[in-house]
Amino acid sequence: MTAMCKLLLATNNPHKLAEYREILAGLPMQLTSPRDEGLEIDPEETGRSFEENAVLKATAFAQASGLLTLADDSGLEIDALGGEPGIYSARYHNTAKDDHAGRCRVVLNKLAAQQTPWAKRTARFKCVIALANREKVFGTVSGAVEGLIALEPKGSGGFGYDPIFFVPELNKHMAELSAEAKHNISHRGRAARAALPLLKKICAAD
Ligand code: IMP
Repeated sequence: MTAMCKLLLATNNPHKLAEYREILAGLPMQLTSPRDEGLEIDPEETGRSFEENAVLKATAFAQASGLLTLADDSGLEIDALGGEPGIYSARYHNTAKDDHAGRCRVVLNKLAAQQTPWAKRTARFKCVIALANREKVFGTVSGAVEGLIALEPKGSGGFGYDPIFFVPELNKHMAELSAEAKHNISHRGRAARAALPLLKKICAAD
């Protein structure tokens, strides 16, 4: 990978941006953000899957910036809620953009109302990353982490649904993990690591 390779982390979500900066920190790449580039676009997520939305965002930001672009679409799938909130995780029940606690409460109330037993509170975080430049979409990769929806929120790390996501193998809520421990097992960490071979190839050909 050449030192000159510049990668736009195409998200307006400050939590996601911080996580990508941490996960990709060791790479010989120049990481940049929409804000760093003076880009003020917020593409509408009209896709019907994480993959469609990731490609849509990567394409829009790559067109606007002319840069090699990484975009992700991610969210939480809860089996007892038929896969909700899924691709609507960021906008679930018309909650305000930064009202993560409100979205967690909606989920907990729904599961309580339908008396979902512990063993049926299975869920997963999913993340699909798309890589694109102005000319083309290079491809997509994905990552996931399995867990259970806890009975109450716990922990102050991470963001979004992390306080209510229980990770059985670590016996902790996602929001109780250090950033390093989260990235080690998270959907985003896994997807980002899966993207590395493609990223290296693109940068080498640059
Ligand atoms: P997107 O920006 O449209 O991909 O929506 C992502 C949404 O999924 C976030 O706003 C969160 O609600 C949820 N989400 C994605 N990744 C995580 C995570 O790592 N922890 C907690 N919630 C997440």
